[in-house]
Amino acid sequence: MARFTIPRDLYYGKGSLETLKTLQGERAIVVVGGGSMKRFGFLDQAVGYLKEAGMEVRLFENVEPDPSVETVMRGAQAMREFEPDWIVSMGGGSPIDAAKAMWAFYEYPETTFEQLITPFNFPTLRQKAKFVAIPSTSGTATEVTAFSVITDYQKGIKYPLADFNITPDIAIVDPALAETMPPKLTAHTGMDALTHAIEAYVSTMHSPFTDPLALRAIQMVFEYLPASFAGDMSAREPMHYAQCLAGMAFSNALLGIVHSMAHKTGAAFSTGHIPHGCANAIYLPYVIRYNAKDDAARARYAEIARFLGMQGASDEELTEALCKQIEAYDAKLDIPATLKAFGVEEKEFEEKVDAIAALAVGDACTGSNPRAITPAEMARLLRCTYYGTKVDF
Ligand code: FE
Repeated sequence: MARFTIPRDLYYGKGSLETLKTLQGERAIVVVGGGSMKRFGFLDQAVGYLKEAGMEVRLFENVEPDPSVETVMRGAQAMREFEPDWIVSMGGGSPIDAAKAMWAFYEYPETTFEQLITPFNFPTLRQKAKFVAIPSTSGTATEVTAFSVITDYQKGIKYPLADFNITPDIAIVDPALAETMPPKLTAHTGMDALTHAIEAYVSTMHSPFTDPLALRAIQMVFEYLPASFAGDMSAREPMHYAQCLAGMAFSNALLGIVHSMAHKTGAAFSTGHIPHGCANAIYLPYVIRYNAKDDAARARYAEIARFLGMQGASDEELTEALCKQIEAYDAKLDIPATLKAFGVEEKEFEEKVDAIAALAVGDACTGSNPRAITPAEMARLLRCTYYGTKVDF
Protein backbone atom coordinates (compact mmCIF):
# COMPACT_ATOMS: atom_id res chain seq x y z
CA MET A 1 0.00 0.00 0.00
CA ALA A 2 1.17 3.51 -0.74
CA ARG A 3 -0.15 6.92 0.21
CA PHE A 4 -0.55 10.22 -1.65
CA THR A 5 -1.23 13.27 0.53
CA ILE A 6 -1.69 16.92 -0.37
CA PRO A 7 -3.52 19.78 1.42
CA ARG A 8 -7.30 19.49 1.75
CA ASP A 9 -7.73 22.83 -0.05
CA LEU A 10 -5.56 24.89 -2.32
CA TYR A 11 -6.59 28.45 -3.18
CA TYR A 12 -4.74 30.15 -6.00
CA GLY A 13 -4.89 33.24 -8.18
CA LYS A 14 -4.02 36.84 -7.60
CA GLY A 15 -5.80 38.10 -4.50
CA SER A 16 -6.54 34.59 -3.19
CA LEU A 17 -5.07 35.74 0.13
CA GLU A 18 -8.56 37.00 0.91
CA THR A 19 -9.65 33.39 1.42
CA LEU A 20 -8.52 34.01 5.00
CA LYS A 21 -11.83 35.89 5.47
CA THR A 22 -13.71 32.63 5.21
CA LEU A 23 -11.89 30.67 7.93
CA GLN A 24 -13.99 29.70 10.90
CA GLY A 25 -12.41 29.91 14.31
CA GLU A 26 -11.71 31.94 17.43
CA ARG A 27 -8.02 32.73 17.40
CA ALA A 28 -5.32 32.79 14.72
CA ILE A 29 -1.58 33.17 15.16
CA VAL A 30 0.32 34.48 12.14
CA VAL A 31 3.91 33.27 11.83
CA VAL A 32 6.13 35.39 9.55
CA GLY A 33 9.76 36.10 8.74
CA GLY A 34 11.95 39.15 8.81
CA GLY A 35 9.86 41.84 7.21
CA SER A 36 9.22 41.62 3.47
CA MET A 37 5.59 40.53 4.03
CA LYS A 38 5.13 43.47 6.38
CA ARG A 39 6.94 45.91 4.08
CA PHE A 40 4.83 45.00 1.08
CA GLY A 41 1.60 45.18 3.09
CA PHE A 42 0.66 41.50 2.87
CA LEU A 43 0.91 40.96 6.62
CA ASP A 44 -1.56 43.76 7.33
CA GLN A 45 -3.87 42.39 4.65
CA ALA A 46 -3.76 38.91 6.15
CA VAL A 47 -4.44 40.20 9.65
CA GLY A 48 -7.31 42.32 8.33
CA TYR A 49 -8.93 39.32 6.61
CA LEU A 50 -8.60 37.16 9.74
CA LYS A 51 -10.24 39.92 11.81
CA GLU A 52 -13.02 40.12 9.23
CA ALA A 53 -13.49 36.42 9.88
CA GLY A 54 -14.16 37.38 13.50
CA MET A 55 -10.91 36.06 14.88
CA GLU A 56 -8.59 37.39 17.51
CA VAL A 57 -5.15 37.62 15.89
CA ARG A 58 -1.65 37.46 17.31
CA LEU A 59 1.66 37.75 15.44
CA PHE A 60 4.83 35.73 15.79
CA GLU A 61 7.38 37.70 13.76
CA ASN A 62 11.03 37.57 12.79
CA VAL A 63 11.51 33.89 12.08
CA GLU A 64 15.08 33.78 10.77
CA PRO A 65 16.29 32.02 7.59
CA ASP A 66 17.16 28.38 8.47
CA PRO A 67 14.99 28.61 11.61
CA SER A 68 16.44 27.47 14.93
CA VAL A 69 15.24 25.13 17.64
CA GLU A 70 14.99 28.15 19.96
CA THR A 71 12.65 29.99 17.58
CA VAL A 72 10.47 26.90 17.31
CA MET A 73 10.30 26.58 21.11
CA ARG A 74 9.44 30.28 21.54
CA GLY A 75 6.72 29.99 18.93
CA ALA A 76 5.27 26.88 20.52
CA GLN A 77 5.24 28.66 23.91
CA ALA A 78 3.43 31.65 22.36
CA MET A 79 0.88 29.23 20.92
CA ARG A 80 0.35 27.46 24.25
CA GLU A 81 -0.37 30.84 25.86
CA PHE A 82 -2.66 32.13 23.10
CA GLU A 83 -4.30 28.80 22.20
CA PRO A 84 -4.96 29.49 18.51
CA ASP A 85 -7.23 27.20 16.51
CA TRP A 86 -5.54 28.38 13.29
CA ILE A 87 -1.83 28.64 12.59
CA VAL A 88 -1.28 30.88 9.57
CA SER A 89 2.29 30.83 8.26
CA MET A 90 3.39 33.22 5.60
CA GLY A 91 6.59 34.04 3.71
CA GLY A 92 9.56 32.13 2.29
CA GLY A 93 10.19 28.55 3.28
CA SER A 94 11.55 29.40 6.72
CA PRO A 95 8.55 30.80 8.60
CA ILE A 96 6.35 28.04 7.18
CA ASP A 97 8.86 25.32 8.15
CA ALA A 98 9.24 26.85 11.62
CA ALA A 99 5.47 27.07 12.11
CA LYS A 100 5.08 23.37 11.19
CA ALA A 101 7.48 22.41 14.01
CA MET A 102 5.87 24.91 16.43
CA TRP A 103 2.56 23.22 15.69
CA ALA A 104 3.90 19.84 16.84
CA PHE A 105 5.33 21.29 20.07
CA TYR A 106 2.15 23.32 20.68
CA GLU A 107 0.01 20.20 20.53
CA TYR A 108 2.57 17.90 22.18
CA PRO A 109 4.73 19.95 24.60
CA GLU A 110 6.43 16.78 25.85
CA THR A 111 7.70 15.65 22.45
CA THR A 112 11.36 16.08 21.40
CA PHE A 113 13.21 16.64 18.14
CA GLU A 114 14.81 13.24 18.67
CA GLN A 115 11.33 11.68 18.50
CA LEU A 116 10.18 13.82 15.60
CA ILE A 117 13.14 13.13 13.29
CA THR A 118 12.18 9.50 12.81
CA PRO A 119 10.41 9.82 9.45
CA PHE A 120 6.63 9.46 9.53
CA ASN A 121 6.53 9.08 13.31
CA PHE A 122 4.64 12.23 14.35
CA PRO A 123 1.84 12.16 16.90
CA THR A 124 -1.58 12.98 15.43
CA LEU A 125 -1.86 16.73 14.91
CA ARG A 126 -5.03 18.87 14.50
CA GLN A 127 -6.11 18.24 18.10
CA LYS A 128 -5.81 21.97 18.79
CA ALA A 129 -5.25 23.81 15.51
CA LYS A 130 -5.34 23.62 11.75
CA PHE A 131 -2.64 25.01 9.52
CA VAL A 132 -2.58 27.49 6.63
CA ALA A 133 0.57 28.08 4.56
CA ILE A 134 1.02 31.07 2.26
CA PRO A 135 4.31 31.05 0.27
CA SER A 136 6.01 34.22 -0.95
CA THR A 137 8.81 32.48 -2.87
CA SER A 138 8.45 30.09 -5.79
CA GLY A 139 10.61 27.12 -4.87
CA THR A 140 10.46 25.14 -1.65
CA ALA A 141 6.71 24.39 -1.95
CA THR A 142 6.59 23.83 1.79
CA GLU A 143 2.94 24.97 1.58
CA VAL A 144 2.06 21.54 0.17
CA THR A 145 4.78 19.26 1.53
CA ALA A 146 5.20 16.98 4.52
CA PHE A 147 8.62 18.42 5.27
CA SER A 148 10.29 20.99 7.50
CA VAL A 149 13.95 21.61 8.30
CA ILE A 150 14.96 23.02 11.69
CA THR A 151 18.56 23.81 12.67
CA ASP A 152 20.14 23.12 16.06
CA TYR A 153 22.94 25.68 15.99
CA GLN A 154 24.41 24.51 19.29
CA LYS A 155 24.83 20.95 18.11
CA GLY A 156 25.52 22.07 14.54
CA ILE A 157 22.91 19.76 13.03
CA LYS A 158 19.79 20.06 10.92
CA TYR A 159 16.65 18.16 11.81
CA PRO A 160 14.79 17.15 8.66
CA LEU A 161 11.19 16.55 9.75
CA ALA A 162 9.01 14.42 7.47
CA ASP A 163 5.43 13.43 8.19
CA PHE A 164 2.08 13.83 6.43
CA ASN A 165 0.72 15.26 9.71
CA ILE A 166 2.55 18.49 8.85
CA THR A 167 1.20 18.71 5.31
CA PRO A 168 -0.84 21.92 5.65
CA ASP A 169 -4.66 21.89 5.68
CA ILE A 170 -4.86 24.89 3.38
CA ALA A 171 -2.32 26.28 0.92
CA ILE A 172 -2.92 29.78 -0.44
CA VAL A 173 -0.84 30.18 -3.59
CA ASP A 174 -1.26 33.86 -4.37
CA PRO A 175 1.16 35.02 -7.08
CA ALA A 176 0.97 38.63 -5.86
CA LEU A 177 3.23 37.60 -2.96
CA ALA A 178 5.82 36.11 -5.33
CA GLU A 179 6.17 39.46 -7.09
CA THR A 180 8.26 40.59 -4.12
CA MET A 181 11.16 38.25 -5.02
CA PRO A 182 14.42 39.85 -6.24
CA PRO A 183 15.95 38.29 -9.42
CA LYS A 184 18.61 36.16 -7.72
CA LEU A 185 16.09 34.60 -5.35
CA THR A 186 13.79 34.02 -8.33
CA ALA A 187 16.57 32.15 -10.17
CA HIS A 188 17.64 30.02 -7.21
CA THR A 189 14.16 29.09 -6.03
CA GLY A 190 13.08 28.38 -9.61
CA MET A 191 15.94 25.95 -10.13
CA ASP A 192 15.12 24.36 -6.77
CA ALA A 193 11.60 23.74 -8.10
CA LEU A 194 12.99 22.25 -11.32
CA THR A 195 15.23 19.95 -9.27
CA HIS A 196 12.28 18.86 -7.11
CA ALA A 197 10.28 17.91 -10.19
CA ILE A 198 13.10 16.08 -11.98
CA GLU A 199 14.22 14.20 -8.85
CA ALA A 200 10.61 13.25 -8.07
CA TYR A 201 10.07 11.98 -11.62
CA VAL A 202 13.03 9.58 -11.50
CA SER A 203 12.73 8.71 -7.78
CA THR A 204 12.30 5.08 -6.78
CA MET A 205 9.10 6.26 -5.04
CA HIS A 206 7.53 7.88 -8.11
CA SER A 207 3.94 6.88 -8.89
CA PRO A 208 1.12 7.47 -11.38
CA PHE A 209 -0.09 10.17 -8.98
CA THR A 210 3.20 12.08 -8.83
CA ASP A 211 4.39 11.65 -12.45
CA PRO A 212 1.96 14.05 -14.16
CA LEU A 213 2.57 16.73 -11.52
CA ALA A 214 6.32 16.43 -11.97
CA LEU A 215 6.24 16.49 -15.79
CA ARG A 216 3.99 19.51 -16.02
CA ALA A 217 6.06 21.33 -13.39
CA ILE A 218 9.26 20.71 -15.39
CA GLN A 219 7.63 22.00 -18.56
CA MET A 220 6.30 25.12 -16.84
CA VAL A 221 9.63 25.98 -15.19
CA PHE A 222 11.42 25.73 -18.53
CA GLU A 223 8.74 27.87 -20.14
CA TYR A 224 8.48 30.64 -17.55
CA LEU A 225 11.59 30.85 -15.38
CA PRO A 226 13.76 33.05 -17.64
CA ALA A 227 10.99 35.64 -18.03
CA SER A 228 10.20 35.50 -14.30
CA PHE A 229 13.92 36.05 -13.58
CA ALA A 230 13.95 39.00 -15.99
CA GLY A 231 11.16 40.64 -13.98
CA ASP A 232 8.17 39.77 -16.17
CA MET A 233 5.48 39.66 -13.48
CA SER A 234 3.07 37.77 -15.74
CA ALA A 235 5.55 34.86 -15.63
CA ARG A 236 5.64 34.90 -11.82
CA GLU A 237 2.13 33.43 -11.67
CA PRO A 238 2.79 30.20 -13.65
CA MET A 239 6.14 29.83 -11.83
CA HIS A 240 4.34 30.05 -8.49
CA TYR A 241 2.02 27.24 -9.60
CA ALA A 242 4.81 25.18 -11.19
CA GLN A 243 6.80 25.06 -7.94
CA CYS A 244 3.62 24.05 -6.13
CA LEU A 245 2.98 21.18 -8.56
CA ALA A 246 6.58 20.09 -8.09
CA GLY A 247 6.00 20.19 -4.33
CA MET A 248 2.98 17.91 -4.52
CA ALA A 249 5.08 15.49 -6.56
CA PHE A 250 8.16 15.40 -4.34
CA SER A 251 6.27 15.43 -1.05
CA ASN A 252 4.97 12.03 -2.12
CA ALA A 253 7.74 10.69 -4.40
CA LEU A 254 10.66 12.09 -2.38
CA LEU A 255 13.93 13.35 -3.88
CA GLY A 256 17.44 12.16 -4.81
CA ILE A 257 21.14 12.86 -4.46
CA VAL A 258 21.10 16.37 -5.92
CA HIS A 259 19.41 17.30 -2.66
CA SER A 260 21.73 15.07 -0.60
CA MET A 261 24.71 16.96 -2.05
CA ALA A 262 23.09 20.41 -1.63
CA HIS A 263 22.18 19.66 2.00
CA LYS A 264 25.71 18.64 2.95
CA THR A 265 27.61 21.34 1.00
CA GLY A 266 25.37 24.35 1.72
CA ALA A 267 27.21 25.39 4.89
CA ALA A 268 30.43 23.38 4.43
CA PHE A 269 32.87 25.98 3.11
CA SER A 270 34.42 29.03 4.76
CA THR A 271 34.01 31.01 1.52
CA GLY A 272 30.30 31.34 2.22
CA HIS A 273 26.91 29.69 2.24
CA ILE A 274 25.81 28.15 -1.08
CA PRO A 275 22.10 28.96 -1.47
CA HIS A 276 20.07 25.74 -1.66
CA GLY A 277 18.62 26.33 -5.12
CA CYS A 278 21.96 27.47 -6.50
CA ALA A 279 23.67 24.29 -5.25
CA ASN A 280 20.90 22.17 -6.80
CA ALA A 281 21.23 24.00 -10.11
CA ILE A 282 24.98 23.34 -10.20
CA TYR A 283 24.69 19.63 -9.29
CA LEU A 284 21.63 18.67 -11.34
CA PRO A 285 23.26 17.99 -14.77
CA TYR A 286 26.14 16.04 -13.16
CA VAL A 287 23.74 13.87 -11.17
CA ILE A 288 21.59 13.20 -14.22
CA ARG A 289 24.68 11.95 -16.10
CA TYR A 290 25.62 9.76 -13.13
CA ASN A 291 22.10 8.34 -12.68
CA ALA A 292 21.64 7.85 -16.43
CA LYS A 293 24.26 5.08 -16.40
CA ASP A 294 21.38 3.06 -14.97
CA ASP A 295 19.13 1.90 -17.85
CA ALA A 296 15.82 2.39 -16.07
CA ALA A 297 16.76 5.88 -14.83
CA ARG A 298 17.99 6.85 -18.31
CA ALA A 299 14.65 5.82 -19.77
CA ARG A 300 12.90 8.12 -17.30
CA TYR A 301 15.11 11.11 -18.18
CA ALA A 302 14.45 10.39 -21.86
CA GLU A 303 10.70 10.46 -21.14
CA ILE A 304 11.11 13.94 -19.65
CA ALA A 305 13.06 15.09 -22.72
CA ARG A 306 10.42 13.65 -25.10
CA PHE A 307 7.64 15.33 -23.10
CA LEU A 308 9.49 18.62 -23.58
CA GLY A 309 9.65 18.00 -27.33
CA MET A 310 13.41 17.42 -27.48
CA GLN A 311 14.91 15.44 -30.33
CA GLY A 312 17.25 12.46 -30.05
CA ALA A 313 17.82 9.08 -31.69
CA SER A 314 18.33 7.26 -28.38
CA ASP A 315 17.71 7.60 -24.66
CA GLU A 316 21.37 8.66 -24.32
CA GLU A 317 20.93 11.52 -26.77
CA LEU A 318 17.67 12.63 -25.17
CA THR A 319 19.20 12.59 -21.67
CA GLU A 320 22.16 14.60 -22.92
CA ALA A 321 19.79 17.12 -24.55
CA LEU A 322 18.05 17.55 -21.19
CA CYS A 323 21.40 18.13 -19.43
CA LYS A 324 22.46 20.66 -22.05
CA GLN A 325 19.21 22.55 -21.60
CA ILE A 326 19.68 22.70 -17.81
CA GLU A 327 23.23 23.99 -18.32
CA ALA A 328 21.94 26.64 -20.72
CA TYR A 329 19.37 27.75 -18.14
CA ASP A 330 22.02 27.95 -15.41
CA ALA A 331 24.05 30.24 -17.68
CA LYS A 332 20.99 32.35 -18.50
CA LEU A 333 20.21 32.73 -14.79
CA ASP A 334 23.77 33.73 -13.81
CA ILE A 335 24.32 30.48 -11.93
CA PRO A 336 27.91 29.17 -12.09
CA ALA A 337 28.58 25.79 -13.74
CA THR A 338 30.93 24.48 -11.05
CA LEU A 339 31.70 24.85 -7.34
CA LYS A 340 35.04 26.31 -8.35
CA ALA A 341 33.33 29.05 -10.35
CA PHE A 342 31.02 29.64 -7.37
CA GLY A 343 34.12 30.55 -5.36
CA VAL A 344 34.86 27.50 -3.21
CA GLU A 345 38.63 27.26 -2.66
CA GLU A 346 40.36 24.21 -4.08
CA LYS A 347 42.45 23.42 -1.01
CA GLU A 348 39.48 23.53 1.32
CA PHE A 349 37.37 21.53 -1.12
CA GLU A 350 39.97 18.77 -1.37
CA GLU A 351 40.39 18.68 2.41
CA LYS A 352 36.68 18.27 2.99
CA VAL A 353 35.38 16.33 -0.01
CA ASP A 354 35.65 12.82 1.47
CA ALA A 355 33.88 13.76 4.68
CA ILE A 356 31.15 15.63 2.76
CA ALA A 357 30.72 12.64 0.44
CA ALA A 358 30.16 10.29 3.37
CA LEU A 359 27.60 12.67 4.88
CA ALA A 360 25.82 13.11 1.53
CA VAL A 361 25.47 9.34 1.06
CA GLY A 362 23.89 9.21 4.53
CA ASP A 363 21.40 12.01 3.75
CA ALA A 364 17.69 11.17 3.91
CA CYS A 365 17.30 11.96 0.19
CA THR A 366 19.79 9.30 -0.98
CA GLY A 367 17.42 6.39 -0.33
CA SER A 368 15.04 7.27 -3.17
CA ASN A 369 17.73 8.10 -5.74
CA PRO A 370 17.36 5.84 -8.80
CA ARG A 371 21.00 4.67 -8.78
CA ALA A 372 22.94 3.57 -5.69
CA ILE A 373 26.11 5.44 -4.78
CA THR A 374 29.08 4.67 -2.52
CA PRO A 375 30.99 7.32 -0.57
CA ALA A 376 33.95 6.91 -2.98
CA GLU A 377 31.69 7.44 -6.01
CA MET A 378 30.07 10.41 -4.30
CA ALA A 379 33.51 11.98 -3.76
CA ARG A 380 34.27 11.47 -7.48
CA LEU A 381 30.95 13.01 -8.43
CA LEU A 382 31.54 16.00 -6.16
CA ARG A 383 34.97 16.47 -7.79
CA CYS A 384 33.25 16.56 -11.20
CA THR A 385 30.97 19.34 -9.92
CA TYR A 386 33.99 21.21 -8.59
CA TYR A 387 36.24 21.02 -11.67
CA GLY A 388 33.53 20.69 -14.33
CA THR A 389 34.90 17.34 -15.48
CA LYS A 390 32.97 14.62 -17.28
CA VAL A 391 30.96 12.06 -15.30
CA ASP A 392 32.20 8.79 -16.82
CA PHE A 393 31.54 6.24 -14.10
FE1 FE B 1 14.86 21.77 -2.51
